[in-house]
Amino acid sequence: MTSHDPNLSKRPSRGLLGWLTGAGREEDVPQGDQAADTSVVLDPRRLARTQLLADIADFLLAHDLEINPITLGVAHNYLNGGDGSMTRSIDQRIQSRQPLTLEWIELILRENGGDQSEFLNRLMNRLESNIEAFDRTSTAAKTAASEYGDALSAHVDGLEEMKPANAPVETGELVQELVSIARTMLERTASLEKDMARSMLETRALRRSLEQARRSAEEDHLTGLPNRRAFEHRFTSEFAAARDAGDQLAVAFCDIDNFKRINDEHGHEAGDRVLRNVASALTRISDDRCHVARHGGEEFVVLLRGRSLHQAWELLDDARASLAERRMVNRATDMPIGKVTFSAGIADVFSFADSRAALRAADRALYRAKAEGRNRVVVAEPTPEERARSKPIAQ
Ligand code: GH3
Ligand code: MG
Ligand code: MG
Repeated sequence: MTSHDPNLSKRPSRGLLGWLTGAGREEDVPQGDQAADTSVVLDPRRLARTQLLADIADFLLAHDLEINPITLGVAHNYLNGGDGSMTRSIDQRIQSRQPLTLEWIELILRENGGDQSEFLNRLMNRLESNIEAFDRTSTAAKTAASEYGDALSAHVDGLEEMKPANAPVETGELVQELVSIARTMLERTASLEKDMARSMLETRALRRSLEQARRSAEEDHLTGLPNRRAFEHRFTSEFAAARDAGDQLAVAFCDIDNFKRINDEHGHEAGDRVLRNVASALTRISDDRCHVARHGGEEFVVLLRGRSLHQAWELLDDARASLAERRMVNRATDMPIGKVTFSAGIADVFSFADSRAALRAADRALYRAKAEGRNRVVVAEPTPEERARSKPIAQ
């Protein structure tokens, strides 16, 4: 214990008793320095959050569930008395002694209807702030334990030296006893400090898992591309940023041509490999101004910023043409799959009232591309009403 704050141990007037009773802590703590404030350890709201976090961990471990956005959200919901029907289903499952598996949870979520992603996202946010609060509490508690230990240590040393040579025997024994009590407290403080350090490490590992889970919730697992949800976030932020910067923005919808035939003739797994190939063909044009995502099924979306509509069209059409030049083979059977193409519709975002209208227009253009023979990129023409409602950016 060498690195204690000298100001804390240089206070003989307050003495050991002061430290044992915690008197005068407010003076010791610089204003606004939460890290050194032991009172945070006792904050009931923090304690409740810490408990909830521990209960969530127990729940996931007891049911041998991996940590991902779904299981975290469901555990939080179950323990926090949220969505009643999910809670009832879990209770019934536990009562019937059947395992709580991720597959079963996903099935129930689907049966409960609709897209749960926003609901899960909200739960994730709350969970994340709980973890942050827990981390802060652990840090504060560890700092407090460490400072307390250092101060105690300094006082104990002083106490031993304090005993004058001619003091009565009882005084000596009393001092010895005090020293031994204080030493025991020191050991406890040191072990508390160790526990806190471990809990801080665990919290940080939990936070890393949560960050990973969050990333994986925004990724399409088949192609590794951002998924529709990630795209929607990206579209919202790029729309605002491009409008503020006066940049052009184009959005395109791409759909693989006759993909059902590939699945029917070569099987779903070969279909999956084709999907990955198309994804990587589109990824080749992506950079910090061009974002590609899988929108779902065999559909992809591309967001192109800082290029004119014509330049954006050219870039996407190049990707289309180079994919169409290739001939694919089913790796499992060596059977030729042949030419794989996609059709696309592309829209100049600011020629439409908002991002949703632009996306709808790109989708309409995609259908025209299909109707006109596939394997082409068609530009979306705003209707006269759409043009009237649009807010073109200043050039
Ligand atoms: P079109 O040119 O008009 O787009 O015809 P299409 O056959 O591509 O379109 P359709 O919508 O009829 O079929 C799309 C198929 O894509 C049906 C569906 O089974 C398949 N599909 C969707 N997602 C996946 C996936 O993740 N893997 C595989 N292998 N197939 C998928
Ligand atoms: Mg489709
Ligand atoms: Mg298709």
